[in-house]
Amino acid sequence: MFCKYCGQEVFDDAVVCIHCGRSLEEGKTRSNRQHGEYEGVITLLLCLFCGFIGAHRFYTGHIAIGIIQLLTFGGCFIWALIDLIMILVGSFKDSEGNTIVI
Ligand SMILES: [Zn+2]
Repeated sequence: MFCKYCGQEVFDDAVVCIHCGRSLEEGKTRSNRQHGEYEGVITLLLCLFCGFIGAHRFYTGHIAIGIIQLLTFGGCFIWALIDLIMILVGSFKDSEGNTIVI
């Protein structure tokens, strides 16, 4: 591969460019990160502390469901509790169908 900063050829698994010394790792991990991937821990915490206003639903892209949960106080907390369990067991998905992984 080639360094994105100076354009010189570097090793494919290089972390730092041997020509200009800049870090190549940051851009590599960012490009590997899939679209729609959410931080499971943040989703869990949002559901735990703000689940009754649907915060975890807004965070994961379920805007319509989030508004309903906001108006119903998380379905009287029961819905928020179910979502919390689903996040914990790894069956909670975002609006694009990506599984929320803690
Ligand atoms: Zn370079």
